[in-house]
Amino acid sequence: MKVINLREILNQEPAINLFHLALKKERLSQAYLLTGPEGVGKETTAWALLFHLFCEKNFENPCGNCKACKKLLKDSHPDLLKVYPEKKEITIEQIRNIQNFLKYRPLEGKYRIVLIKPAEKMNLQAANALLKSLEEPPSYIIFLLITENFTQLLPTIISRSQIVRFRTLPSEVIKNFLIKKFSYEEVIAETLAKISQGSLGRAIEIMEKGLIEELHTFVKAGFSSSYILKFKVAERFSNLEPRSWDLFFYLLSLWIWKSYLKKRYGLSYPSAFPQENFQKDPFLALKIIFEAKSALEHYANPEIVFYWLLTKIFNLEA
Ligand SMILES: [Zn+2]
Repeated sequence: MKVINLREILNQEPAINLFHLALKKERLSQAYLLTGPEGVGKETTAWALLFHLFCEKNFENPCGNCKACKKLLKDSHPDLLKVYPEKKEITIEQIRNIQNFLKYRPLEGKYRIVLIKPAEKMNLQAANALLKSLEEPPSYIIFLLITENFTQLLPTIISRSQIVRFRTLPSEVIKNFLIKKFSYEEVIAETLAKISQGSLGRAIEIMEKGLIEELHTFVKAGFSSSYILKFKVAERFSNLEPRSWDLFFYLLSLWIWKSYLKKRYGLSYPSAFPQENFQKDPFLALKIIFEAKSALEHYANPEIVFYWLLTKIFNLEA
């Protein structure tokens, strides 16, 4: 990690202005609820805020060199407590741990911060326990709750927090960022920007996991008549991690959909996608992808699922 300044956050001016003002006036709420779609800068903003709050030298431009900044960079600051789901949920034991953390004054600076992500993963017991802590927290405590969907939280939690909304990013912003920051080729950056639905995080993940290349591999095997190739590709996909499967299904669905829109309405087609277009019934194909996804969620054998998917969608009636 490197030091993050609130000014670096892309296209979230309302959220960033709110935090700037609060920092300047030293009037921070005791609980913020950062809400918005995946991959648009919520967690990055939370970390930036931590640097601004903890830096010993300059709260307007965190230095990255002081003791506090260094501890944040090493992710070992004693006044920060991060709460992430254990397995699938955030449990009441984890919230009790927060209650312990709240008892002690800051060890180093002025604040102690509790970061909960994703807040909607708190089970009911945990959420109720958190509520108690939110009622009258010590003055040095700030809660940062991060969520993609704040309507899933208890209304009483929402009402005790200041809501900070994050929005999706325009594709131009994503494209320019990918070119400037990662030196992506223009064709790739443009495709990623168009297909990521305003989520920079998703665009970067698709690129880092090499999933556009995987889509090419999959499509090539699908159009091929070689069963050996299909087996090999199915085996290859079975070894990807579940998060990559999710993103891949998203890409595959998009390829099918974009092919359909191009064929039917002559709409533009992402230039880094496979040149071959999907020609079969897109609605049936999307249904099959959904079935494959669901089978994997129910622990079906991934190799068989991918082989089935590969043979099935490319052999549909057109
Ligand atoms: Zn510093």
